[in-house]
Amino acid sequence: MTKPWYKDNYRRNLVDMHIDAWDGEFLSKFDPEQYFTCLQKGRITSPMIYTHSHVGWCNWPSKSGAMHPAFKGENKIKRVFDLCNQAGMDTVAYYSLIYNNWAYDTYPEWRMIDIDGVPSRGISGGSMMGGGGRYGLLCPNNAAYRDFLKKQFAELLSEYECKAVYLDMTFWPMICFCPSCRARYKEETGKAIPEYIDWTDPEWLAFQEARERWMTEFSFFATRELKALKPGVTVEHQSSTAPHPWTFGVRSSAAPASDFTGGDLYGGYEQQSFVCKLYYDITCDQPFEYQTSRCDPGLFDHTTTKSAEMLKLHAYLTYAHHGAFFVIDAIDPRGTMNSKIYDTIGEVFSETMAYEPFFTGELEADVSLYFSYASKLDLRNNKRKRAILGHEGSGETSRHLTCLLGAEKALRNAHIPFRINTDKSLAALDKNKVVILSDLVFVSREEEEALVEFVEQGGSLYMSGITPASLVNRILGLTITGFTAETVTYMRPTAAGQQFFCMYDPANPMTIFDKQVLAGNVGHNRILAAITLPYTDPKDSSKFASIHSNPPGIDTEYPAIAYGSFGKGKAVWSAAPFEQSSQTVHKQVFTNLIQYISSDKPQIKSDAPAQVEFTIFRDQEKKILQLHCVNIQEQFPMIPLGGFSVALRLETSPRRVVLLPATTDVPFTVQNGYVEFRVEDIAIFRMYQIEW
Ligand SMILES: [Zn+2]
Repeated sequence: MTKPWYKDNYRRNLVDMHIDAWDGEFLSKFDPEQYFTCLQKGRITSPMIYTHSHVGWCNWPSKSGAMHPAFKGENKIKRVFDLCNQAGMDTVAYYSLIYNNWAYDTYPEWRMIDIDGVPSRGISGGSMMGGGGRYGLLCPNNAAYRDFLKKQFAELLSEYECKAVYLDMTFWPMICFCPSCRARYKEETGKAIPEYIDWTDPEWLAFQEARERWMTEFSFFATRELKALKPGVTVEHQSSTAPHPWTFGVRSSAAPASDFTGGDLYGGYEQQSFVCKLYYDITCDQPFEYQTSRCDPGLFDHTTTKSAEMLKLHAYLTYAHHGAFFVIDAIDPRGTMNSKIYDTIGEVFSETMAYEPFFTGELEADVSLYFSYASKLDLRNNKRKRAILGHEGSGETSRHLTCLLGAEKALRNAHIPFRINTDKSLAALDKNKVVILSDLVFVSREEEEALVEFVEQGGSLYMSGITPASLVNRILGLTITGFTAETVTYMRPTAAGQQFFCMYDPANPMTIFDKQVLAGNVGHNRILAAITLPYTDPKDSSKFASIHSNPPGIDTEYPAIAYGSFGKGKAVWSAAPFEQSSQTVHKQVFTNLIQYISSDKPQIKSDAPAQVEFTIFRDQEKKILQLHCVNIQEQFPMIPLGGFSVALRLETSPRRVVLLPATTDVPFTVQNGYVEFRVEDIAIFRMYQIEW
């Protein structure tokens, strides 16, 4: 079988082109030759090209839809495809699902409709990510819209020669109450769609499950149609929704509708590191694809462009996970492209491409962050509210994600290599590792069984904040009874726990700006900290101990941190996910606990500055270990770092250590099962290979 086109293809591009047609100037200067020249300058190996946009115009002379008037019947985009294909680039056709203003206007009966009967463009305060506003949204449950898509796909694939189709916007930007959704829900459950969001109400949970199941089914519908029309075509759906809150209705079950996972995100470099690991876990095939814009910080700023240094950090951080880097440009409404941007992109890729031939092996980690698609919500602040997004509800957040991002930062700063696991990879959890569950709201029966078995067989588990009661009970015997009323609380170290608590002691316990979970029946567990409450409830402003703060005043016997064993494994339970705190000491206490329950010797030891992230790939067959060092800074220009030492765990004697891409030999020593060498300096990225 020949290798799929995307395998060794790491430099990708899209030129954002959601241009309207009400001004004759729009796209009037579009020039396929200029487009192609820019891609060549940018050293792009795989361009994704618009065949259709959110505005809904097709860029080909469509029979089922309508061609963008600016092209006056001339298929200029086909010319772009032809030029790229002739030059050996792997072309991808972009198509916008659900977001389609032309069809929204032409077929009003296909529209998504909110609980009040208002379609997306009528929703005040609506946005791309919630409600609509500028965006005309169509319902994937509408059969006529699906028939239209079949015709569109057939036209698209007969018009353009491409290796892949990218389907954007496969998610729910609204809570849809259109007739198709109402009828489908009625048929499946015999019930009406519930009118209130409430995470303690089984009716709402059942409907959210239906939204997720429907979106997975729609993803597979689109993939199946395309592959039936063109066997062998690669299909990729927008997967930026993976870390986004529950509103988008996307579960990991939708991931296999894509041959590989990719999506655009704009949350900075620390978020990127998390997303690369998430994509690495959920993708059906490697490399995954990390997409972000050359616009700084995102596409909403059309004219501000990231520096070469900023783009290099994006590219290298992706490469440190062996992913493909996908840079998004945005076209000027007149149809012109800024060639200076492609000088910059070319400068970036000319440098980074030297590493591409070396990527091999699989990501190694000491710790796994468990990411739950079902838990992307804020149960702590659950309030029953009407099932509508837009200006009322677009502020939905996911505490689960916030907590995991906090844990990620703590692990990076302590140079503990980590990865992300989801329900997709749960069965393959390595029993020598530590798994972190942070404000995990829901677990399925399969997840709970896998986690219990993981600990039983020797794994180490850290559970913090909200954890499903039955899971905590089965592993540590604790009985969860509720939350503290106070939102400022303390963790008071016991004699057994003092060693983990840095500057804190029983008289000066660790502050938690959060409610803590109350649990009883501590049994044989070792209590490492107990809950202390402030003198007064912070909510009551009539009475206080100290006017600026809420100092600790009432010691309780409720456990704050409990440690115990289960089967061959061990577990720590924390009454609050304090790893999310931005304070350095809190992160230190967290890593102290993680190191305490680690069974294995650490894979890496280093005195590198905290902002250096290490990722390790191992290729057991080729007898290669690869170490990537990335200097992750969020401020520019970046400060280059001086030298530091690294010691990598290796069970055998190394033959040599080389610095890539030049394969320069690096002096090393071997001690106690670790190969040690020095990283002389680092601007953004260093990659070493240890061969044995
Ligand atoms: Zn609908």
